[in-house]
Amino acid sequence: MNHDTAISRPTGDSTQSTRSTLRQHFDVAVIGYGPVGATLAGLLGRAGLTVGVFDKAGAIYPQPRAVGFDHDAMRLFQRMGAAQALAPHIADFRDSCYYGADGQLIRKVARLPPPFPLHWAPNYTCDQPAVEAVLRATVDAMPAVEVHLDSCLTGLQDDGQGVRFAVREAPAQSTQHYSAAYLVGCDGASSTVRRSIRAELASMAYDEPWIVVDLHVDPAYLDQLPQTNVQYCEPQRPSTYIVCPGNHRRWEFMVLEGEPREGELSEQRLWALLQRWVDPAHARIWRAAAYRFHALVARQWDSGRVFLAGDSAHQTPPFLGQGMCQGLRDAGNLAWKLAMVVQGRADTRLLQTYTEERRPHVQATTLLAKEIGYLLSERDPLRARARDARLLAEGGGSARTLIRQEMIPGITHGLIAADAPLAGVTLPQPRVRNADGRNCLLDDLHEPDFRILASRRADIPGLRELAQAAGVALVVVCNGSGAAGDDPPESVSDLDGLLLPWFEAHGVQGVLARPDHYVYGGFTDLAGARSLLHMLENTRVRCTPALA
Ligand SMILES: Cc1cc2nc3c(=O)[nH]c(=O)nc-3n(C[C@H](O)[C@H](O)[C@H](O)COP(=O)(O)OP(=O)(O)OC[C@H]3O[C@@H](n4cnc5c(N)ncnc54)[C@H](O)[C@@H]3O)c2cc1C
Repeated sequence: MNHDTAISRPTGDSTQSTRSTLRQHFDVAVIGYGPVGATLAGLLGRAGLTVGVFDKAGAIYPQPRAVGFDHDAMRLFQRMGAAQALAPHIADFRDSCYYGADGQLIRKVARLPPPFPLHWAPNYTCDQPAVEAVLRATVDAMPAVEVHLDSCLTGLQDDGQGVRFAVREAPAQSTQHYSAAYLVGCDGASSTVRRSIRAELASMAYDEPWIVVDLHVDPAYLDQLPQTNVQYCEPQRPSTYIVCPGNHRRWEFMVLEGEPREGELSEQRLWALLQRWVDPAHARIWRAAAYRFHALVARQWDSGRVFLAGDSAHQTPPFLGQGMCQGLRDAGNLAWKLAMVVQGRADTRLLQTYTEERRPHVQATTLLAKEIGYLLSERDPLRARARDARLLAEGGGSARTLIRQEMIPGITHGLIAADAPLAGVTLPQPRVRNADGRNCLLDDLHEPDFRILASRRADIPGLRELAQAAGVALVVVCNGSGAAGDDPPESVSDLDGLLLPWFEAHGVQGVLARPDHYVYGGFTDLAGARSLLHMLENTRVRCTPALA
């Protein structure tokens, strides 16, 4: 397949790589070393694939953008080996209070109470550059991953057997040529890869100008500021306040009709916006930027051996804090599929399920962010009061509390047994103790692969033989009091008591889980488990688990 920026092969010395000790060919080329590219490279590197990462910038983009991410993201960081190192740079995300037109509480968005279903806090606050530094340090230490900074992708050609691509490298600005079995464009909102595959962005009809201001506040003044995150749903000027790590605080202000939308944001203008909360004697402006908050999703996420992930495929208004999280989910979804295909363990058709699964998920989440955006930014005072009355009525006269994580959907399309219970839902992750007495998190028991998790209580005869015949790891879940002498060797004790009540609540005795810890389907007996494995086999995905 030829794309409009097709390249030709190198013709002479001037185009030869100056990095002769480095690879010219990779299993996967990742274009863009933002959070999504770094996570994808880390997951692929952990899976043992050779990866070339190319970023046109020489360093991490230094300005804070994302100030929040969720437990799905942390689970991926755990998988790539970065979770522990992130700890000094993140803090728990505070609950959000929505205040209405007359200053009354109209809604609360809180987090799930412990025990947390994925072990990690449901939401964290962070500074994006600090998170990216940890991700990059983790990836940089992986021998199978080569990172090329100051290296701008200028063209690519997919010939059906692989992807050849050209990169302009600083400082000489010489063009180098590489190839890869697959190429993923994680190159952000103005993606060259997206243009190369001629994928259009479809608008989800949201385009609002906002100003985002990040401040470092005098620590002695912090207790004068709100202690929760706040959505000021005030028709005069909708705005948002977010408690970020340390003394970092963020305000976001809707730009009103008639106000300048772009260009220089004077300190005078910014302090006028901030004066209700803080003044220059108590804080320093770290950075301010005017944004158009968009809702855009690419119509096409893949073409032959080329894929899009992260902001190159979609952009969302930030009201749910899901922009980066969506991109990280893309990385998590694509990484295990690319690994299985490259390692010859799955048919290439598995890769088609990437777009099938991720596009509707991103659309649903973006739609929700857009709805929240409209809800909080009502400018008409009468309609704003009507909204407040409606929300309070929904809560039976007082503000209702929504759980943030419950707003994020599961997978609804793709490689799941759609009619089976729990299909497309994320598998909980308790701490477990295995038969050898080793404690670890559930995900860390095995290398990522399909596996069956079943209740010890059900004790389904024949399940072990079925799993063995299918080449799928079996995890028999016992309660937290410890495996008893007669428990099978694949037993683990659920130290957080998450899985058995979860099976029970959903009327299943076990689940077949995918390598990315989404549930393929739940089952109640041996026939159900057999039928799930049979369906999976028909998709020509082979299960050959490697024990950790
Ligand atoms: C104000 C604001 C608030 C936000 N808040 C949140 C939040 O709270 N939570 C959340 O989850 N998300 C949030 N986001 C979104 C989040 O910042 C982005 O979704 C995220 O940065 C996207 O990551 P990415 O890796 O896809 O792209 P980017 O971070 O944009 O990285 C793309 C990389 O590709 C490189 N590149 C571009 N072109 C080329 C090329 N031709 N060749 C080589 N390299 C190239 C760039 O140099 C860059 O390093 C927010 C965004 C904004 C603007």
